[in-house]
Amino acid sequence: MSNSALSCKRVISPNRNSPRNHKIDTITIHCVVGQMGVDALCSEFSRESKGASCNYGIGYDGRIVTVVDEEDRSWCTSSGENDNRAITIECASDAFYPYAINANVWKSLIELCADICRRNGIPKLVWSTDKNARVNHKNACNLTVHRDYANKSCPGDYIYNRLGQIAKEVNQKLSGVPAGPFKPYQGQVNADNGLNCRTAPVSGNVIKTFSDGTVLTITKEDGNWGCCGQGWVRLDYITKIASAKDLAAKEDSIMDGKTFKKMYDEINPTYNTIDEVPSYWWADIKELVDKGIIGGVGGGRVGEPTRLGLTHSDCKAAVLAKRIREKL
Ligand SMILES: [Zn+2]
Repeated sequence: MSNSALSCKRVISPNRNSPRNHKIDTITIHCVVGQMGVDALCSEFSRESKGASCNYGIGYDGRIVTVVDEEDRSWCTSSGENDNRAITIECASDAFYPYAINANVWKSLIELCADICRRNGIPKLVWSTDKNARVNHKNACNLTVHRDYANKSCPGDYIYNRLGQIAKEVNQKLSGVPAGPFKPYQGQVNADNGLNCRTAPVSGNVIKTFSDGTVLTITKEDGNWGCCGQGWVRLDYITKIASAKDLAAKEDSIMDGKTFKKMYDEINPTYNTIDEVPSYWWADIKELVDKGIIGGVGGGRVGEPTRLGLTHSDCKAAVLAKRIREKL
């Protein structure tokens, strides 16, 4: 058994069992909750009192360290069973929700996972959003997460929500088929407070902030950063729009989400009091409320008023039903 040649440093932790008792057939990716460098990672896991380790650590600059040799079991996932069969990887991440990893870490993580698979005869990575499938390795599932074995948020929602993407990128490397030439695409900013545009990925200076809903053309990618002509933006806040060729689909997807909701609210407003109901329906709706047929929404707590909560189309349907009944 060998270690990854991608590792630049080897500082073995005392927190391990030697050798592991199971063949390597799984990978478990963790977030270390801090933008730590490789030296900090080594000294953190070298402390016996820490009582924890990992096979590999990836620093914020993308460098990789070996903390426990692959032939040994690390103390990482709160499960001996898992750690005996898994290669565990701790990634430098933000110390706050959703514990994002940067583009350097992402790139190294993909390379490292592909290297682990190649050397250990793992044909491809299989992710499942079903906990039962993960912990029982059903359907060849071989990516597990710390939160399945302990009351922890590890690997953080940033990584957790991208494990399918991670598997896809690793498998693309394993299949040896080049990803093909990059095709520019359009995407819409999905960030309530706007999205910073930087001179370079990760730590470039902020040039400007794009407001929520802005449509950008991404012409280049580097990890989870995209170049939009003026600078670089984080792709986690970009919602991809259908390919420019399919104009109808493109219009639809731009309309999607927030824009659509805004428009919908304009054409189909919600009436929260009886006085907001248009005059041509007012008497009918008032009658239905007085008879208790329309009860409103919300309320429940003492003294809290109940909202009518009827949309324009709800009112139309209610009045129509009332008039049909009156006719028959
Ligand atoms: Zn963890």
